[in-house]
Amino acid sequence: MTVPITEKELAAAAGWPIVHAARKLRDTGKVLRVSYDPPLLKGAVRMGSRTYGAGLRLGSELENLCSCFDSWSEGKICVHSVAAALALMQQSEPSQPESGAVDPPTTATLPVQ
Ligand SMILES: [Zn+2]
Repeated sequence: MTVPITEKELAAAAGWPIVHAARKLRDTGKVLRVSYDPPLLKGAVRMGSRTYGAGLRLGSELENLCSCFDSWSEGKICVHSVAAALALMQQSEPSQPESGAVDPPTTATLPVQ
């Protein structure tokens, strides 16, 4: 699956500080799930005690569909949606066999006791 957006484009839309904060959210496992059903990217992003339903419509113009205040009050591309997009990019990178995205079904060989 190819994600039709790059980190650079996200930075252009949201600003680098947002991208850096979003990277941190992704790297600390705050992106609970992400899916991409063109042109809609959807994710759930945990921040503080809340989980935001983040989302982006990827098209000629980015549209933020997140449930947070920044998104609906000012129409900004927020950190949650950027984090979801970054997580999706990471998932779709082909050169990371140990990313853990796909766990092969293995039989447990741990000794009993
Ligand atoms: Zn948001």
